[in-house]
Amino acid sequence: MTSTETIPSLAGASAFPQQVESVPSTGGKRILLAAPRGYCAGVDRAVDAVEKALDLYGAPVYVRKEIVHNKFVVETLTRRGAIFVEETDEVPEGARVVFSAHGVSPAVHAQAAARNLATIDATCPLVTKVHKEAVRFAKDDYDILLIGHDGHEEVEGTQGEAPDHIQVVNGPEEVDKVQVRDPDRLIWISQTTLSVDETMETVDKLRERFPNLQDPPSDDICYATQNRQVAVKKLAPDADVVIVVGSANSSNSVRLVEVALDAGAGSSYRVDTADEIDPEWLSEATTVGVTSGASVPELLVRDVVGRLQRLGFGEVVEVRTATEDILFSLPKNLRADLKASGAVVDRPHKAREAAGGRGA
Ligand code: SF4
Repeated sequence: MTSTETIPSLAGASAFPQQVESVPSTGGKRILLAAPRGYCAGVDRAVDAVEKALDLYGAPVYVRKEIVHNKFVVETLTRRGAIFVEETDEVPEGARVVFSAHGVSPAVHAQAAARNLATIDATCPLVTKVHKEAVRFAKDDYDILLIGHDGHEEVEGTQGEAPDHIQVVNGPEEVDKVQVRDPDRLIWISQTTLSVDETMETVDKLRERFPNLQDPPSDDICYATQNRQVAVKKLAPDADVVIVVGSANSSNSVRLVEVALDAGAGSSYRVDTADEIDPEWLSEATTVGVTSGASVPELLVRDVVGRLQRLGFGEVVEVRTATEDILFSLPKNLRADLKASGAVVDRPHKAREAAGGRGA
């Protein structure tokens, strides 16, 4: 970063959806803009935690794994002085490290303690809830079927809470492989960012094999994942093309493409940034749907809308299916340090969606 460069904050009010203006267009070409879209409360908290840690403690601040699965966010925080590592043993002894929104296993906490690292745990509280369920049911000696994608960081973190009790079920096609000790002491839990429909398909198949399979105490698929899927489902039948803004390793962004196609979109593409849009995709289209994954800052959606408007899709109509006002407070130890330094700890973007989105 050069000394004159100003890097905008990625967390807080400016990162959330706001009204998008229409521009004149010809031929009735329009954009249907899903709402809610973009940042969820867990992502905003995690990104805010890294930004505030950089402000308070100064660079570098180490971050284990991508803080959230978005290329632009990771690149921008790197320019501000964050250093992203894969494992805690890459962090110098005694340095400060942030754990990502996807959560970590107890083994990772232990490794960090052994290296005397100062940790800031930005695990989303909704992921922590699933960890607690896993611990509780393992303690009661259940076999736990974790529906999720093998190798995903969130799944690794949850499985690490009770590796002897948890087996991962990747989808309906893996149900036949499941082996359990006692089919009457069996519960399923899930990764938070799956598609609701796909998860229930797996659960139904599991229940055919294990009729006494128990449901978790509450849904694990989080409000943000569900809300974004419901919104894209609503607009997809009217869209010739649906563009999903999000990175390839963002599970919930990839799911949005699938949900759009299942709900009747003519075609659907995922892009990291506006310049990845191929005008050829739109050659026959009059209506383009736009949404974004839970790890995507609104400014990337703005760029996509701007590019589409330059390609002739002038009118913007917001398709809103829910209003979100959830806010998670910053990790406790970071809050305490901020307070002690006299910094402002309040995060004033709580009502951002309510203020943000009338149809344009
Ligand atoms: S998608 Fe849901 S579970 Fe994941 S960080 Fe956001 S709020 Fe938390």
